[in-house]
Amino acid sequence: MNTKTAVITGASRGIGRALALHLAKAGYDLAICAHSRTDSLAEVCHQVTAQGRRCVTYLGDMGNAASVQDFFGLILQEYPTIDVLINNAGISYVGLLQDMTDDQWDQILHTNLSSAFYCCRQVIPAMLSQKRGHILNISSVWGNVGASTEVAYSATKGGINAFTRALAKELAPSHICVNAIACGYIDTDMNGHLNETERQQLCDEIPAGRPGTPEDVATLAVSILQNSDYLTGQIISLDGGWI
Ligand code: NAD
Repeated sequence: MNTKTAVITGASRGIGRALALHLAKAGYDLAICAHSRTDSLAEVCHQVTAQGRRCVTYLGDMGNAASVQDFFGLILQEYPTIDVLINNAGISYVGLLQDMTDDQWDQILHTNLSSAFYCCRQVIPAMLSQKRGHILNISSVWGNVGASTEVAYSATKGGINAFTRALAKELAPSHICVNAIACGYIDTDMNGHLNETERQQLCDEIPAGRPGTPEDVATLAVSILQNSDYLTGQIISLDGGWI
């Protein structure tokens, strides 16, 4: 059996970390990256290799085209094919839109939206020659409905949703699937700014009565990857019935 390979951006913690561990368990060799924290990324790599899988790591900014090119250069030296790309790296910005600086706007756009373009551009030629592949974008319910004080974040995730639908149409004739998971409130460090009262208020609004876990997202991701190439162009919400 040929081992499949998956690239996961932003895998040092949170949802990306859970994706890495679940895909390793499902039999994938991995290439993972993060923006900072070599130690956390190395720890995830260690857990992947302990499951008998190979793992390439890279520290760099996926919002920078040159870094993305470096990362994929490294991957293609190690693996002959890339079967799966998961665009997970992302940052949030909470604050009023009129207080945002140009740098803050550019940073969130590059990290959350341009990164998906840069990574897809690198991976699509290999997937086209294989006539198969899966691109999965980790999006947000705010990309569907928008959130007050998260205007830029909502814009990037709305952009990712449109990017997903359009790219799916472009690549479906080549049997390459493009889907997105629109997460609700997932319990990760990204939400570390919330105090206990705010966390409880959010849980009270969610019919399932709890935040999602990174493992909830990873379980859905693995099941999406197991589908036929007829599942494409979909933005699948995972929010406990919230939105
Ligand atoms: P997190 O902050 O816990 O982890 C983010 C990961 O992305 C880290 O590994 C970090 O190093 C990496 N990263 C950040 N900027 C990067 C860059 N420029 N280049 C490379 N790597 C970078 O966040 P999380 O909650 O696990 O979020 C993961 C994804 O899920 C993000 O795209 C986020 O928008 C999305 N999401 C999260 C939630 C939530 O409630 N946590 C909800 C909806 C969507």
